[in-house]
Amino acid sequence: MKKLGGKVALITGTESGIGHAIAVEFAQQGADIVITYLNNSEAAAETLLAVQQAGAKGVIVQVDVSNEQSVDALFDAALQYFPQIHILVNCAGVRSTDKYIHEVSVAEFMATLNTNLVGTFMCSRKFIQHRLANGGLGRVINISSVHEEVVSPGKTDYCASKAGIRGLSRALAMEVADKQIAVNNIAPGMILTPMNKRAFEEPEYRKALEQRIPSKTSGMPQDVAKVAVFLASDDAAYITGTTQVVDGGLSLSRAQGAK
Ligand code: NAD
Repeated sequence: MKKLGGKVALITGTESGIGHAIAVEFAQQGADIVITYLNNSEAAAETLLAVQQAGAKGVIVQVDVSNEQSVDALFDAALQYFPQIHILVNCAGVRSTDKYIHEVSVAEFMATLNTNLVGTFMCSRKFIQHRLANGGLGRVINISSVHEEVVSPGKTDYCASKAGIRGLSRALAMEVADKQIAVNNIAPGMILTPMNKRAFEEPEYRKALEQRIPSKTSGMPQDVAKVAVFLASDDAAYITGTTQVVDGGLSLSRAQGAK
């Protein structure tokens, strides 16, 4: 039996990587999908095709999650196409500037926070307003990172943004639990997506990184997507305010970032 039949999911960052995989996995489980993209409309069209091939409906909407007007327009457009949205997955994100704090500009730091943290806040805010106007019920799933907990030098921007998502998610979970809206994070470790382009393209570099992971393997986008299906499904109805780590044991290794 399909786990998400009759549901509509809005997933940000759906034109690539983990967001694409979640869209396809959700569609295979019966959900219709609001597909979003920032720049690459052709990649979004590929996601739509995969959603349709799985037997689900989809609509594509362009959004910049770091821009309030753009987020408002996303929800307006999505709700013109589907009468309700039951699941929000905040997956859009940017990687760290990979600069130490004395080298990073305020604008660079803010850019990471604006997409990863403020974008998650603005999309969640619109979604919760929509659910409250429709009697509650719903799921928010945030794709944070092991960096919501694990720290690494050169990643103050990214660690602050993902730790911020952890606080946001847990506080929001308390606010809306009695409306039967659940809010949970998924914290991936090293997943092979365009965000980890170098690991994708350079096998030696990837092997070196994998030595730090207890499982000695990278994760695939589908590893994250399957956990998102669980958290979106009725099986997870009583789970809220948690983080599900998907990292092959990476966050167990306290050697992260050690010299
Ligand atoms: P990705 O680069 O393939 O996906 C990121 C997506 O976010 C892209 O589709 C991009 O267009 C979109 N995006 C970026 N800025 C945006 C904006 N302002 N507005 C709208 N969309 C925007 O990489 P991914 O690995 O699939 O990343 C997805 C999420 O997973 C991110 O939040 C990332 O931080 C998180 N994550 C990834 C890994 C990993 O190892 N790949 C690990 C931990 C967490």
